[in-house]
Amino acid sequence: MNLLEDARALQGDLVQLRRTLHRAPETGLDLPRTQETVLSAIDGLGLEVTTGRGLSSVTGVLRGARPGPTVLLRGDMDALPVAERTGLDYASDNGRMHACGHDLHTAMLAGSARLLAQHRDRLAGDVVFMFQPGEEGFDGARHMVGEGVLDASGSRAEAAYALHVMSAGTGRGRFTTRGGPAMAASNVLTVTVRGAGGHGSMPHRAKDPVQPACEMVTALQAWITRTFDVFDPVVLSVGTFHAGTQQNVIPETATFEATVRSFSPRAQALVKDGTVRVCEGIAAAYGVRAEARFDELYPVTVNDEAEAAYVARTVAELHGEERFEPMAQPLSGSEDFSRVLDGVPGAMVVLGAAPEGADPDTSPNNHSPYAAFDDGVLADGAALYARLAADRLTAA
Ligand SMILES: [Zn+2]
Repeated sequence: MNLLEDARALQGDLVQLRRTLHRAPETGLDLPRTQETVLSAIDGLGLEVTTGRGLSSVTGVLRGARPGPTVLLRGDMDALPVAERTGLDYASDNGRMHACGHDLHTAMLAGSARLLAQHRDRLAGDVVFMFQPGEEGFDGARHMVGEGVLDASGSRAEAAYALHVMSAGTGRGRFTTRGGPAMAASNVLTVTVRGAGGHGSMPHRAKDPVQPACEMVTALQAWITRTFDVFDPVVLSVGTFHAGTQQNVIPETATFEATVRSFSPRAQALVKDGTVRVCEGIAAAYGVRAEARFDELYPVTVNDEAEAAYVARTVAELHGEERFEPMAQPLSGSEDFSRVLDGVPGAMVVLGAAPEGADPDTSPNNHSPYAAFDDGVLADGAALYARLAADRLTAA
């Protein structure tokens, strides 16, 4: 099968599909129009299609001609609450924007379903196509995992792959990934210190929450430098701090919130327990109470070493060696594809999609209202999705 040639024949359709999605972006877990568009794009391919119960996901299962293992391919479908300013003729005007390129992921995944359906007779095993809402902070992947997407074919997927386009940072048409941590864990630390209010002139008759809260903010930074390996870093930034109403009144409470990023399961576990302990310990020393909550948004996205190497080989075979670039460091963004990789070995793969002629070092980043993605990469991305699944299932 020549997947690349077949994919290039689909390029016009994929551009059309992508631009249809781009014009009408939806955000969060409920994407009814997007779901409808996807359902019609994969209609007639002979997939077993189910839709989500608690979210507007689409799961398609393609049965190969012979039995074998299952490979899962994931594309996210949601947009962002960003007002588009690209000036493109297919730009969105509804106040939401596909500023992270998920419209391209959806089109590439639908394209790979078409490609693999054409070659179903060659496949020994099944492919699960995971069309996911709510990647942007809504943990849609966790919902889909909860609804059984990893076992959608009847047996647990053996490998999982996801593509992510970038409007900056990576050269157009280049694929990059790495084994091990590929993206950060994202967490929120919320602390409320409860003291006892009183007169500012008589702190001994009150329990001031401001002083211990300030110590917590500085102690957390010091504790991080004494706890974590510099080569396995943790970043903590306090983004809000609120207390009090007037200079001569000791308030009842002080609260602050921090974003906490980490890059390994070990650092994540340490930072989760440690930040809460530091805050509670300081509160105890002052005789006040701290309610410290550490909420994990997304875990570290950890690529399987062997699967990342398989992606690198497959890109080189399909597109040529010069199209693959090893990812030197993990990205500091985070991804709920980490939920899938917690259950199935696989890899998150980045595809450079800065517009032709634009310098990826200076072009607007993902999430910018000016972010532009070149849909010239669609056929190549769809071919890679298909080839990653097909090679696993013909080699098995
Ligand atoms: Zn994204």
